[in-house]
Amino acid sequence: MKVLVQKFGGSSVADLECMKKVRAKVLDAVAQGYKVVVVLSARAGQTNKLVEMAYQWSDEPNPAEYDALLATGEQESIALFSMLLNDAGVKARSMVGYQVPVLTDNSYGSARIISIEAGHFLSELERFDVVVMAGFQGYSMENRITTLGRGGSDTSAVAIAAALSAEIGTVDCHIYTDVDGVYTTDPRMVPKATKIPKISYDEMLEMASMGAKVLQIRSVEFAKKYKVPVWVRSTFTNDEGTLVTQEDESMMESVMVSGVAFDKDQVRITILGVPDQPGVSAALFAPLADHEILVDMIVQKASREGITDMTYTVSHKDLKRALVYTEKVAEEIGAQGIEYDDQVAKVSVIGVGMRNHSGVAAIAFSALHKANINILMISTSEIKISCLIHANELEKAVRTLHTTFGLDGE
Ligand code: ADP
Ligand code: ASP
Ligand code: MG
Repeated sequence: MKVLVQKFGGSSVADLECMKKVRAKVLDAVAQGYKVVVVLSARAGQTNKLVEMAYQWSDEPNPAEYDALLATGEQESIALFSMLLNDAGVKARSMVGYQVPVLTDNSYGSARIISIEAGHFLSELERFDVVVMAGFQGYSMENRITTLGRGGSDTSAVAIAAALSAEIGTVDCHIYTDVDGVYTTDPRMVPKATKIPKISYDEMLEMASMGAKVLQIRSVEFAKKYKVPVWVRSTFTNDEGTLVTQEDESMMESVMVSGVAFDKDQVRITILGVPDQPGVSAALFAPLADHEILVDMIVQKASREGITDMTYTVSHKDLKRALVYTEKVAEEIGAQGIEYDDQVAKVSVIGVGMRNHSGVAAIAFSALHKANINILMISTSEIKISCLIHANELEKAVRTLHTTFGLDGE
């Protein structure tokens, strides 16, 4: 059996007209002899509406019911789209997460997929030409509906491709969206961004982790782990798109920097006048970890007379809770106080070429300096350099780095 997974995001299934364009893509694959797994997101804006509704009904929505509510967005899409296929004479059926079944852990709102039963799915593919599967959702061991975190339909698509690959050999996964591939940076911010024909899993992972929301991070982790070839394409053009795949020699040698990513969802918290002694960092960060608050960057100032400042960043949604736990510890360890700044953003340059080229950081810092942009914090990995800067300088910083590393197109 020849199987193809095609995933369509919210803007691709926004209305009847868009869904008809999606249908044309699916019919194309059917005509090529594929059994097609179509993974759909909720229609554009629908998930946001459901989130809003949950908070109108409840100050603190029950997490399991919150997921049950959010999952309805995808259920609507798959039912409507299956009707369209049926009308075109295609044998198709819809499937929500627990019908597949997609088993997850019970971290409501950001559940992780544990397993997908491919055998059952394959028998449905024997009976139908197209199975239309709801993205973004699964069910937990406790038999409750779960969702996979915003953008999670990408992960559903790659995960079903991986599960089917294990049974029948490599199944490609095509992620259709509103841009025709992965670009050197978000083309909505930098019109001169250029499309990357082929990108390694590691680079894509860093791009996604550093804020490029074109693919959900976990979808790239899955693709890398199970070696699923992922194509990012546009629903609205016939362009080939970008292939996300294993790193090869040519990728490492060609360029130092492949892309620039940015993340506006950063808040900087500083604990002032911290006694510089063993155990202080552990005391500060353990409660944050215990409460699943993700800390991104951390910097400790050089200490003077045994006193120092500690700074870290979290996302906006965790700010309130982070302040509560940090204030408590700050008092216990006798710190002088805490302050925060939510007008910050992170800009990152990414490239596997950094493994072979030194001096990328120096070039990035000096470019930002020339543009008169102050760097507040820095973090690096083998293939990435990130700088925290003032939010109002973000666009200038992205454009500056994009130009500096020769990424501008026409
Ligand atoms: P979908 O609803 O199809 O899942 P998303 O909005 O989640 O689509 O992702 C597509 C968007 O990702 C694009 O519209 C683009 O603005 C944004 N994006 C951010 N960084 C990049 C990048 N490097 N390349 C392409 N798109 C990017
Ligand atoms: N509908 C969900 C969201 O808006 C999942 C997705 O689109 O991938 O985040
Ligand atoms: Mg998305």
